[in-house]
Amino acid sequence: MPEHDHPGVAGWLDGVNLSALAAREGTPLYVYSAPMIRRRIRSLRSALDGLDAGIRYAVKANGNIAVLQLLAAEGAGADIVSGGEMHRALRAGIPARDIVFSGVGKSDAEIDAALAAGIARFNVESVAELDAIQRTAAGRGVVATASIRINPDVDARTHAKISTGKAENKFGVSIDEARRCFSTGPQWPNVRLDGLHMHIGSQLLSLEPVRQALARIAALWRELEASGHPIACIDVGGGLGVRYREGERAPAADDYVAVIRDALGDFSGRILLEPGRWLMAEAGLLLTRVILEKRGTARRFLVVDAAMNDLLRPSLYDAWHDIVRVGDDGTREKVTYDVVGPVCETGDTFAVGRELPRCVAGDLVAILAAGAYGASMASTYNSRPLPAEVLVDDGRYAVVRRRQAFEEMIAGEQPASDWRDA
Ligand SMILES: *Cc1c(COP(=O)(O)O)cnc(C)c1O
Repeated sequence: MPEHDHPGVAGWLDGVNLSALAAREGTPLYVYSAPMIRRRIRSLRSALDGLDAGIRYAVKANGNIAVLQLLAAEGAGADIVSGGEMHRALRAGIPARDIVFSGVGKSDAEIDAALAAGIARFNVESVAELDAIQRTAAGRGVVATASIRINPDVDARTHAKISTGKAENKFGVSIDEARRCFSTGPQWPNVRLDGLHMHIGSQLLSLEPVRQALARIAALWRELEASGHPIACIDVGGGLGVRYREGERAPAADDYVAVIRDALGDFSGRILLEPGRWLMAEAGLLLTRVILEKRGTARRFLVVDAAMNDLLRPSLYDAWHDIVRVGDDGTREKVTYDVVGPVCETGDTFAVGRELPRCVAGDLVAILAAGAYGASMASTYNSRPLPAEVLVDDGRYAVVRRRQAFEEMIAGEQPASDWRDA
């Protein structure tokens, strides 16, 4: 399947028939294309050719173990934001030396576990966190390696809820504060602070904010080196956008890396990249079956068996996802639907006023570009078990997460019989 085609008319993905797949594995069902994931990471790696650069895939985009293994086989390490993600990454076989740990609120227990595992580097977001890492590393008698996350105060021109590089966002420290951290470095003898990190937001469709932010980071790196603070690593974060709707254009790997080369071409240390969405989003879709069509007084609803608990992005960010009727032959009349799930929330809406071929109960529909921040954000709200996930590759598929059973969903809950004092 070409990168930007969709499985509407054909109903096939990488040689796998989606209707047959849904019949066998049930719906809602996440389907990921292994070839498409490989194409993306290979194009990024070849764009990076000649640079001392590493890819640290942002696990939160899609942390499925099989996905992590596929990306690791293509040379990616991991960018984690929690102890749980570290567990996943290690379990997938990603070596600790290829793992970096980001996040604004790492707990002492998470820092300690990361030091015990020997992860490569902490991306530090505050002075208080430097203090915490110092304490924990001293307790273990080790020296932690750290980059400081700079908040470059640029407008990433993306949705407010996924902008992270403005002064008012909670992430990173200002350039002034970073300067102070390097000059007071001796306060943290168990922290080797020798890196700069940034991540200005997600779903960036313009490279201009990246260019601006990198210019600021590069200026700081030169200034720090001139004042005696060698910088071994610059981590440019993730954020590269993808095509969610027809007509949008995701930046190409070559164009993105050209911006990095412009800013950091003569940097002699290691460059890290933390893409998440760009590697995974377009490689995945969510298959869902039409439960019924409901004609309200004002609108026509298509009620499908996936819901906001399976794919939260439309509810959380008003995000657009293209939706197609799988196997559509183009002969059905077009109807304007609100596509909604069965959850008891008005926000449980995938699309409003969307023109689709007329659908009937039992039809199969695909919500496209759902490979990132889809399954990883899923919950069991309304006691709906977590959906299954499959990976397809060259005419075959593998279930990489089985559908959660009711008993698995309630495992861990128990009657209040074991009362204790605290
Ligand atoms: C979420 C996140 C990423 C990945 O962002 P994408 O937009 O998915 O590429 C990278 N780095 C950090 C620190 C993040 O929090």
